[in-house]
Amino acid sequence: ARDLTKIYRLGGEDLAALDHVSLDIADGDFVAIMGPSGSGKSTMMNMIGALDVPTSGELLIDGRDIGRLSVDELADLRNRTIGFVFQQFNLLPRTSALKQVMLPLLYANPRPENGEEMARRRLAQVGLENRISHTPRQLSGGQQQRVAIARAIVNNPKILLADEPTGALDSKTSEEIMQLFTDLNREGITVVIVTHEPEIALWAGRRITFRDGHIVDDVRQKPIPLPAGKRAPQ
Ligand code: ATP
Ligand code: MG
Repeated sequence: ARDLTKIYRLGGEDLAALDHVSLDIADGDFVAIMGPSGSGKSTMMNMIGALDVPTSGELLIDGRDIGRLSVDELADLRNRTIGFVFQQFNLLPRTSALKQVMLPLLYANPRPENGEEMARRRLAQVGLENRISHTPRQLSGGQQQRVAIARAIVNNPKILLADEPTGALDSKTSEEIMQLFTDLNREGITVVIVTHEPEIALWAGRRITFRDGHIVDDVRQKPIPLPAGKRAPQ
């Protein structure tokens, strides 16, 4: 991002949700975005996810300037490159886990022939091989979030974005979800999460803090859990 600015116009008043933000996120990074309510975190995520476009400035995702893409090109970038996970899971209420995860493949171009197999593999990867016929209300919150993550990665995205992915989960389940993000990051997916919880941000290798539409802090840190060999003996 270079001088990335997003202005919302409401009732004749301009509000800069993002104000000349410059930021580089490298392939393979694991970033946690923090900051007070209203500081611009979700606005930033929506732009990285090509769900929204900037008012001014530049944002290159995988080398493509999202401000210059057509609606179709934005959709294509989203489908090919980005997986998105939300706080409230955003699953369809009456649809099985398997069908939820296959859904993004309907929009893939070309549509894969082995979609069901791809979805089964992702559900197994998130530990739900025994829950593929369950609908959301037959699953715990953590399991629902795992379905949402499997759906987000079924297209083999380069970037996985998650806005408050543990906000609706208890602390033990949150840790399991963060371990899953850690595993996906180690496989090479760039992971960016928004969180209000300092303990959750500790899982990332880099912590960026927003305030009033600006980045006020950007630090590298040793993520937890440490690699197996470096962990303290139990
Ligand atoms: P939270 O931690 O509460 O989720 P946030 O950091 O994600 O906050 P944003 O949702 O990015 O904050 O909002 C940044 C600012 O932009 C806020 O002042 C918000 O009111 C405003 N805003 C966000 N979306 C819109 C919109 N669609 N129209 C008008 N203003 C908006
Ligand atoms: Mg938000």
